[in-house]
This record gives sequence, C-alpha cells and structure tokens, in this order.
Amino acid sequence: MWIANTIAQARQHRGRMTGLVALVPTMGALHKGHLWLIESARQLAAGVVVSIFVNPIQFGPEDDFDRYPRCLDQDLAACERSGVVGVFCPPVAEMYPPGRAASQLIVPELADPLEGEQRPGHFAGVCRVVAKLLNIVQPEVACFGQKDYQQLRVIEAMVQDLAMPVRVVGVPTVREEDGLAASSRNAYLTCPQRRQALGLYKALVEAKTLVETGGESDPAAVEAAMDRVLRAYRIDVDYAVVRHPRTLASLQSLEPDRTDGVVTLVAGRVGGVRLIDNMVLAQPSPDWARQC
Ligand code: AMP
Repeated sequence: MWIANTIAQARQHRGRMTGLVALVPTMGALHKGHLWLIESARQLAAGVVVSIFVNPIQFGPEDDFDRYPRCLDQDLAACERSGVVGVFCPPVAEMYPPGRAASQLIVPELADPLEGEQRPGHFAGVCRVVAKLLNIVQPEVACFGQKDYQQLRVIEAMVQDLAMPVRVVGVPTVREEDGLAASSRNAYLTCPQRRQALGLYKALVEAKTLVETGGESDPAAVEAAMDRVLRAYRIDVDYAVVRHPRTLASLQSLEPDRTDGVVTLVAGRVGGVRLIDNMVLAQPSPDWARQC
C-alpha cells in the first residue's frame, strides 16, 4: 500500500494505477462506517484510494477541529487490512499553502439550509476539499456515506454542475447494533451520553412508523413527533425535519410516491457533542442514491 503526503507523490502513485480507481475521502479515525465505504468501493473499482485529511476549512470557530480524533497509524493499518491500494494523507500546509489565494465553490440551494444554517461556511469547505481531492487523485468513482445526507446531495450537485468526470456513489449508513449511526464523534460520548444519543435513531424510527405504517401525510406532525422523541432523550435539537429526498426542499404534504420517498434529517447536541443522522422513508426504489 502506498502512502502519499504530497500532491506530487499522490499523482505519481495514481499514474501507475491501472483499471478503475475509487476514492474514499475521510477525515480519519476510521470506524466500521468508513470500512463499509472502502468495501463498497472495492466492489466498484480495481483499486481503492483513501484520503485521510481533517479539513480545517469545513470547521467553524466553535467546532471541534482541534480535538477531532486523529490516529493515523491505526487508520493506515485498517486501510492495509481492508485491501486499500493507496492512502493520501497530506498535512494542512500541502492542501492550503499559506499566502495562496483561495477559490470558493458553493452550491447555495442545497448547502444553505440545515447544516449550512447551523454551520456557516461548512459546505464551502467540504466542496473545496472534495474538488481538490478529486483533481489530485482523479478517480473514476468516489464513495460517500448517506450518513452525511446533505453532503452527498451537495457533492452530487457540484460534480454534475461542473461536469467533473467521476461517478459519485452514495453508500448506506452503517449503524451500531442498537441503531446509533457509526461516527468518529461517538468516541467523545460518555456512557450516559451514548444512551442519550440513541434518541436520534429513535426519532427517525418514530417518523418511519408514522409515515410508512400510519400513512401520516402532514410534515409538521412528523417533525413534532421527532422533536418530542429527541427531547425525551434530552438532546438539544438543532433540527428535526422531513424534506424532499433530492432537493431537500420543505414539503406541503408528504406524498412519497410522487417524490420517490421522503428524507427525515435530525441534528442535535448531547453534552457538547454534535451528532446528525437521517433516514429515507417510503422509498419505492431504494437504490436511487447510487444512480448518479
Ligand atoms: P468523515 O471521516 O466523518 O468525514 O466521513 C468520511 C466518509 O464516511 C463520508 O462520506 C461519510 O458520510 C462516511 N461515513 C461516516 N459515517 C458513516 C456511517 N456510519 N456509515 C456509512 N458511511 C459513513
């Protein structure tokens, strides 16, 4: 497995790879969600490249950039065990040399609501790093988790709009046995907070039952029900919404047959830890997110 710290090294290694290449961009602290992404990528390409880079420009001043978990040696070993061909893990100065003018990439319609509202500038940082990683590694396929649903939508839109020559694949969320979505930030949780965090999943399941079993068509009723569950678990709610699965627009009424399902998205804080999750409901064709 090759390891590249500079853009020049990554390009050199990439140039020697043959067959389809899939890129799995990550911020490291790899968990089973990342490993499933790598496994999915392996099924789609001859060689998988993983990038490990805690991207400072997608963190706001209040965010956890400084304390974000970093364990490169463990991550490299996990990549090696998972059959990854190469890892690109640049230092910050390699990606963002001081004094160089920065470009900006924004996808306002999809990036402004929800996470964009809670974390101004977050998706501009995500788009810039993803575009840069795609330009450096030049993969035919790039895999992203549906766990970060809005991020996936934003990246798909950016890639489509800029005619980037890469196929974006959305990979379903990997969960712990009780339903909590695997996340690098789960490592911050104490035992009681870990039990509280399950409220995110429970809220999504409540929405699923209301929509899929109860036939609830009023978005406000679904959102209120999710909010109740989150508060019962003493989660500080940032949002609990049901939206159009592609545009993320608000809906007057839920008509999943017409919109190809609906997506419920939740975000909140447990202690100081901010967690997000989502679930696509009442979806006639579960594979749509893969067809980009
Ligand atoms: P991160 O390291 O948190 O930036 O995540 C890197 C990639 O892994 C992103 O595409 C995430 O959406 C994806 N990811 C994170 N958690 C999960 C999960 N539980 N299941 C599937 N993919 C995930």
